[in-house]
Amino acid sequence: MLREDTVARIQKYVRPFCITNGKGFHLKDFDPGDTCGLHLGKAEAADLLQQGTEWLAEEQSMLYAQDRWSLLLVFQAMDAAGKDGTIKHVMSGVNPQGCQVFSFKQPSREDLDHDFLWRYAKSLPERGRIGIFNRSYYEEVLVVRVHQEILQGQRLPAPLVSKRIWDERLADIARFEDYLTRQGTIILKFFLNVSRKEQKKRFMERLDNPEKNWKFSPSDVHERKFWGDYMHAFNETIRATASKHAPWYVVPADNKWFTRLLVAAAIVEAVEKLELTYPKVDAKRRKELAAARAALAGEA
Ligand code: ATP
Ligand code: MG
Repeated sequence: MLREDTVARIQKYVRPFCITNGKGFHLKDFDPGDTCGLHLGKAEAADLLQQGTEWLAEEQSMLYAQDRWSLLLVFQAMDAAGKDGTIKHVMSGVNPQGCQVFSFKQPSREDLDHDFLWRYAKSLPERGRIGIFNRSYYEEVLVVRVHQEILQGQRLPAPLVSKRIWDERLADIARFEDYLTRQGTIILKFFLNVSRKEQKKRFMERLDNPEKNWKFSPSDVHERKFWGDYMHAFNETIRATASKHAPWYVVPADNKWFTRLLVAAAIVEAVEKLELTYPKVDAKRRKELAAARAALAGEA
């Protein structure tokens, strides 16, 4: 099948999950178990994913050669939604040299001495690169909103902390993304939408399978008590920060194969839109190359 046809088909699958305008967005309208009616076997899904990752590798190579655009992929989710596995599978074909992954955990003392975007801004992808944020500045309106004692640890001057702080932060994030977009950063944000029930199943597996024990942390179970607060925080976040140039993808995450395919498809679609090519060689450069070739051919 022609590449354009495939991309058009991909668009059809991706569109329902792509939020470009937060007005009227309700997270509860999105089913974590959705697979768009697709029932793929493991092998078939893996084949499709491989095609996606191969395309991505080609696009990345041109992104790198052009050295103009950069791509920022933001992953947010509840625990065990599959962030790590998705990043691993979707990026499996790309050249590690053009790719930077950052995982953001609890902030350090140095981080807390700065404004809330500081540590993330330091890690943004350079031109020509793909940057992956495994958790991101969105934690500042998610975990920090759910556990307000974390906000106290940020030592903001008291007059600046009011009820409006979350709306203010969300507005700051939206403006920050506008700014980055105008600098040539393509921003795609993925919320891996796992259900509470599926999360429990995955935690159980981590407890029952010795090889998965290391993945389990007792605090993960504790966080389940705040599920509703997290969903509210995600809902408000997506409403306030979904835009045409920095869309949110609400990716169903109860079926890993579908999560990975959809994420790969969304990235391929976004990068295809840039219509990347390798840098064109002008007449002067062509001359230089011809001279270099002649010199090389003439060597003993
Ligand atoms: P995994 O569990 O797969 O190893 P993870 O991303 O869940 O990956 P953890 O070390 O378990 O990594 O958790 C990191 C924790 O750091 C999360 O609970 C997250 O909410 C928290 N965190 C991230 N950013 C911030 C922040 N700015 N302030 C406070 N906590 C944060
Ligand atoms: Mg964790």
